[in-house]
Amino acid sequence: MNAEILAVGTELLLGQIVNTNAAFISRRLADVGVHVYYQTVVGDNAERLRQAVELARTRADILIFTGGLGPTKDDLTKETIAAVLGARLVHDEAALSYIEDYFARTGRPFTENNRKQALVLQGSTVFPNDHGMAPGMGLQQGDKLYVLLPGPPKEMNPMFTSYVEPFLQRLAGSDALHSRVLRFFGIGESQLEHVLQDIIDSQSNPTIAPLASEGEVTLRLTAKHALAEEASRMLDAVEAQIMDRVGEYLYGYDDETLHEKAVAMLRSKSFSLSCAESLTGGLFSERITSVPGVSSLFRGGIVCYSNDVKQQVLRVPAEVLQTDGAVSAACAKLLAENVRELLGTDVGISFTGVAGPDSLEGKQPGTVYIGISIQGQPSAAVGLQLGGSRPLVRERAVKYGLYHLYR
Ligand code: ATP
Ligand code: MG
Repeated sequence: MNAEILAVGTELLLGQIVNTNAAFISRRLADVGVHVYYQTVVGDNAERLRQAVELARTRADILIFTGGLGPTKDDLTKETIAAVLGARLVHDEAALSYIEDYFARTGRPFTENNRKQALVLQGSTVFPNDHGMAPGMGLQQGDKLYVLLPGPPKEMNPMFTSYVEPFLQRLAGSDALHSRVLRFFGIGESQLEHVLQDIIDSQSNPTIAPLASEGEVTLRLTAKHALAEEASRMLDAVEAQIMDRVGEYLYGYDDETLHEKAVAMLRSKSFSLSCAESLTGGLFSERITSVPGVSSLFRGGIVCYSNDVKQQVLRVPAEVLQTDGAVSAACAKLLAENVRELLGTDVGISFTGVAGPDSLEGKQPGTVYIGISIQGQPSAAVGLQLGGSRPLVRERAVKYGLYHLYR
């Protein structure tokens, strides 16, 4: 089955908002094995929307619309599709009473145009809106499927995962696809593929698809089976084969992130954390503090960008800065050790390096040292030569740091 995503909204065409809905839906459809062949954007204009629907149904099995389900005059997605399909719009009782309750609860006056939000295509499966008012819907007509979803991502995303995906899975029946994403760090895409080539080539169900982004590599395993438990067993079997060869690089599954995993690891050991950041200028702290509840273990960090601060605040001796340099294993170790002592934590981590584009201390851009100091253990430093532009070097350095904490 293949799909076309049609995002409706003049703001999209004006560049006032970015079409994140299409990106979200495309990603999720890949998981259920639906190929997206086209993404279309069309304004709030009945005639052009009609033309877009006419064209889309000549080339896609599933047409997924987002936007234009609201109460205002420019919201005309349902009306236009109903006209093209020759379908009727009827009030959905559940959606109507939900909307009326909502107005009663919030004490806002109910206006007649809000009844419009409870209109659905007759005969469609209605998807409740748990985060707003306009419900979504899925209508099968002939061999085509029409799915209509609200525009705001905070309404559309949860509706898609909670209701639309199971709906598509049910329609797919024995062809249902189940995927699992394995996430790796510290190994390149080409090396991973090389090591696993024979397994990848010999697999047809489940399939294995590698993908690289920002220093991470993922493998998407997709099994086709009507029964979820059986699919899960099939995925386990291939995963075990893969783990035999590259298990040491695996850090997580599906949407898990390195920063969440690093925090979970520290928490499991009851370790507190502090950091000294030169190269990364606070990027590591930003990433760590994005994890909810991290205040119980992260005490803080010092951005020690200049050598003065390294020397005066973080007590790196002048000789080290002169002989080894700020970008050195010796300096990284001292920064980690001293920030740990200054802030009184179990673990201290530091980042020093050359982000580029220019060299520093005769060291090439991409030269990075990460220091790690754990209470009661000799401190260590990892030297890296990272590729990429300035933002990429900084981003990758943070990920390496997180990865070392996780290990
Ligand atoms: P509402 O009931 O809020 O009017 P709606 O279903 O009618 O919802 P629109 O009016 O088209 O949807 O869009 C409402 C808001 O949703 C937009 O202002 C925008 O913030 C967001 N939005 C709409 N379409 C997209 C999209 N394709 N990607 C990201 N955000 C979107
Ligand atoms: Mg609207």
